[in-house]
Amino acid sequence: MNLSTLNENQLSAVEKVEGPLLILAGAGSGKTRVITYRIAHMIKNLGISPFSILAITFTNKAANEMKERVTDLVGDQARDIWMGTFHSLCVRILRRDIDKIGYGNSFVIYDTQDQLSVIKDCVKEANLREDTFKPNSILSAISNAKDKLMGPKEFEERYVSDFRMSKIAKVYKLYQKRLKNNNALDFDDLIFKTVELLRAEEGIRDFYQRKFKYIMVDEYQDTNYSQYVLINTLSKYHENLCVVGDDDQSIYGWRGADISNILDFEKDYPSAEVIKLERNYRSTEIILNGANSVIDRNTGRKKKQLWTDIKEGEKIKLHKSIDEKTEGQYIASEIIRRQREEKRGLKDFAILYRTNAQSRALEEALVKNSVPYKIFGSLKFYDRKEVKDIMAYLRLAHNPLDDVALKRIVNVPKRGVGLKSLEKIEERAMMTGESLYSVILDLSDVDVSTKVKSSLGKFANMINSFIDMKEILPVSQLLDKVMDNTLYIKELEAEDTDEARSRIENLKELRTVVMEFEEKAQENTLEEFLGSVSLMSDLDNFNESEQFVTLMTLHSAKGLEFPVVFMAGVEEGIFPSSRAFMDENQMEEERRLCYVGMTRAKEVLYITYASERTLYGKRNFSRASRFIDEVDSELFEANIKEEIMKPESLYEKYKNKYKIGVEDRTKEKGQSDINVGAKVKHGKFGVGMVVGKSGTIYTIAFEGKGIKQIDTTFVKLETI
Ligand code: ATP
Ligand code: MG
Repeated sequence: MNLSTLNENQLSAVEKVEGPLLILAGAGSGKTRVITYRIAHMIKNLGISPFSILAITFTNKAANEMKERVTDLVGDQARDIWMGTFHSLCVRILRRDIDKIGYGNSFVIYDTQDQLSVIKDCVKEANLREDTFKPNSILSAISNAKDKLMGPKEFEERYVSDFRMSKIAKVYKLYQKRLKNNNALDFDDLIFKTVELLRAEEGIRDFYQRKFKYIMVDEYQDTNYSQYVLINTLSKYHENLCVVGDDDQSIYGWRGADISNILDFEKDYPSAEVIKLERNYRSTEIILNGANSVIDRNTGRKKKQLWTDIKEGEKIKLHKSIDEKTEGQYIASEIIRRQREEKRGLKDFAILYRTNAQSRALEEALVKNSVPYKIFGSLKFYDRKEVKDIMAYLRLAHNPLDDVALKRIVNVPKRGVGLKSLEKIEERAMMTGESLYSVILDLSDVDVSTKVKSSLGKFANMINSFIDMKEILPVSQLLDKVMDNTLYIKELEAEDTDEARSRIENLKELRTVVMEFEEKAQENTLEEFLGSVSLMSDLDNFNESEQFVTLMTLHSAKGLEFPVVFMAGVEEGIFPSSRAFMDENQMEEERRLCYVGMTRAKEVLYITYASERTLYGKRNFSRASRFIDEVDSELFEANIKEEIMKPESLYEKYKNKYKIGVEDRTKEKGQSDINVGAKVKHGKFGVGMVVGKSGTIYTIAFEGKGIKQIDTTFVKLETI
């Protein structure tokens, strides 16, 4: 195993395998690469057993990539390493032993929609009103509690004198009870229950503590408390724990990640060695300097000096558009231009944005220009109705206690079981403590019509046949049976609409997923399939050979890199998000997110923004993000500081260069002769008074419409 491609600091990190080790370093400095080489070095050069190594990454995609790289370096032995996300590690531990804490080993994993459906029922059961106790906000309170390893009892005790929280405690209790009855865990439970199991069962704890002689965690800055406890429990015996991260890239604070986990590592492990990596191998100097000048504004960070050898490179392209449509058009045409002129593949390009909702306008532009793209992270394949329906049948076949799955499909396709009948069944289940399915198996004491009884009888027969089939058929054939016997596909065919056809396409895609699973799976069982799907996100369906532009949120882009990166919609209120305006901590997190985004780029970075944008169905005027201001203006292709003040000059400059923008409008200069205090009329907002002015941009208080910023480069104001 040749380690000569590593620099001196990377090499010492790879070679120090015993004892606690912290690698704290900036973006693109080779942290993830060090983990990969460290594992290879252990196996190849030191003869360490792959079974004793645990490597945790943040996404499945990162885990797969790491597995591939390690396989390249060490061959087949890579299969025996435990490598994956926190969730996949926990599922593996729990499948084996969760029965020790009162769950069945074939538990199912609930996603957000499943969770919400249970929460709604619990809110009802607790006699609370859904409009004051919104399921989403309860869910996040429960999730926060679980991140802190706080069960329903502790939660109740802690908030005993808080009216609202004590009601939520009640829902939490009911929610946990229902999950248990359904033999289901939510995502937060995966970690919570693993910690609970390890705390409760000395033998199991001992087993894993001895098994994992070497533990490595990537992106450690984004671990939350429960993950922190889990890691520290597992590494207690050998203490060969290597954590890797960058405090400047901590972007999951809103989900409970605790940056102090990485900053306090030296306190937790006084004998820890700390290695810093200072050379960035990913980006050009211009991009790196740009990113550094932004992150430098954050206070209380560990200062890092990152340098790169890649001196050559284009300046950062800053582009202002009229609206989100022209922004999309500009990005699409730049991709096409570079693809032609620089012979780049589409995989070289990524478009990153702050929120999922921004993708629609970008997608439209790409479609219009026939640029293939793939969008990661939003409307997940598995969130689509038809896919969830069919999956619910499979879930029920696997676990008839799964009430959530049953409720989803008991009347899908329609079989005459109305809400009233379902309520009767639920009442009965509540009374006897049975699952809904078991009530359906014996309806003699339930007050529903004979018609409903007969229909449910047929339904139960069908489900029973699936339960039998799952033992003998491979998952793909079971899936076919479900799609046929339920008449699901038939119904869609009968609808004969475009939408129905696209739903059928999606179900075909589900079959592809199953077949891919069957090729790769160690055990071709329904249980294994359902488990793998629950942990999957669309990021994992990256087909390496296909060509497409990547679209994703800035959050999902963590750890990845692309030759050309577009950061779109870099506007005040979007990025930074308006939620951060009043909260300095949140603002710093937004700034870290900006640093993460910029450092994804290897060769070329674009930052784009628009002066008007329709988002969430509302049209708003927008201003360039403060983060643009924070970048040293010399790094931009144009002198940005000046141009933010005078947008028209930006247009003049870019107009000829890229021929962008809506030509007619850009020919007009903005108005600069209206004085503060003047009364004006605007096409859409009506009459208002100018209360502020900066170049050709006016701040105007409109009657009944509030204060708006109007950029007169695009909109003419009439003085009255
Ligand atoms: P992030 O903070 O974004 O997760 P990172 O610190 O994990 O970044 P890597 O992804 O490991 O950085 O490395 C960034 C890029 O630099 C990769 O393309 C990697 O292959 C390359 N690289 C790292 N170290 C070296 C080296 N010693 N020689 C050549 N290339 C390197
Ligand atoms: Mg990394």
